Amino acid sequence: MLKDFFIGLSQNQFLNSAAKKYGLKMGAQHVVAGTNIAETIESIKELNRHGISCTVDNLGEFVFEKEEALAAKEQILAVVEAIHENEVDAHISLKPSQLGLDIDYDFCKSNIQEIVAAAHKYGIFVNFDMEDYGRLQPSFDLLDELSVDYDNIGTVIQAYFFRAEEDLHKHKNYRLRIVKGAYKEPAEYAYQDKATIDENYIKLIEWHLLNGKFTSIATHDHNVINHVKRFVKEHNISNDKFEFQMLYGFRKDMQLELAKEGYNFCTYVPFGQDWYGYFMRRLAERPQNMNLIVKQVFNK
Ligand code: FAD
Repeated sequence: MLKDFFIGLSQNQFLNSAAKKYGLKMGAQHVVAGTNIAETIESIKELNRHGISCTVDNLGEFVFEKEEALAAKEQILAVVEAIHENEVDAHISLKPSQLGLDIDYDFCKSNIQEIVAAAHKYGIFVNFDMEDYGRLQPSFDLLDELSVDYDNIGTVIQAYFFRAEEDLHKHKNYRLRIVKGAYKEPAEYAYQDKATIDENYIKLIEWHLLNGKFTSIATHDHNVINHVKRFVKEHNISNDKFEFQMLYGFRKDMQLELAKEGYNFCTYVPFGQDWYGYFMRRLAERPQNMNLIVKQVFNK
């Protein structure tokens, strides 16, 4: 129920535009690294000091105008330059919809290509985040088409989709982030039951660790993390074949601990003014994240 409520809020365009005007509010500053690139680079440097690499996401949703997509492209290009100039250990995560996927496929492709080419020049990896079902196949198509010229790209497999296993096998030669899935998807395409999603999640991770290129295990679930630790040990999979990923601001102690134990660790660092939808999806995943709001109210 609460999940549906927050997912509903995340899709509310009026609240999304209102939130942009008022800066980081409602506790969002605990899970969003900054509103601009300079602040974000400082957050990355701090994580790097603890042996944690970063993937940087320029927040943005509901892009239906070409000007907005072009502005997002310029901002991401500026992040690529900032990563290079500051010599920080970071790469890019982008959302095809922010770069015009809902406007025109070829327009979006040319925007992403520009980013991928700029990042390629500096040896920076670019991850295509996966959004909801309607954008799944076009996002794979973008990836496959751009992979003809670039090898610095990869994407995400969402374990709640029935087709996830097939997509994983098809894309095993990419660096892949494997997640449970963050959107509300209909029973027509996606498992609804948490136990089934968790089971599929483990199955996909194990398969990619044994057969794939590089695996990013993106979860805050300690049971999954402990399972992966045992699995890699049993199968002699070396640490350079995988990493753990978590979102900025979540389970900070565990992030530091995993890096200290010698595992590759990467924090997903969102930044920007368009924080609203991202923040609401985090509340949907874990209503306890409401604590962030409550703390914020009482710490004023
Ligand atoms: P859950 O299934 O939410 O939780 C499992 C258990 O873990 C909980 O019961 C609890 O015991 C523990 N737990 C979880 N969170 C916490 C916490 N904060 N504190 C203490 N205990 C906790 N989704 C997409 O659809 N597309 C993407 O591109 C995408 N990229 C992502 C990138 C990263 C780096 C991460 C971490 C997630 C991403 N997601 C993405 C979101 C993902 O799909 C899940 O919705 C999200 O991670 C919640 O699932 P979970 O595996 O973390 O754990």
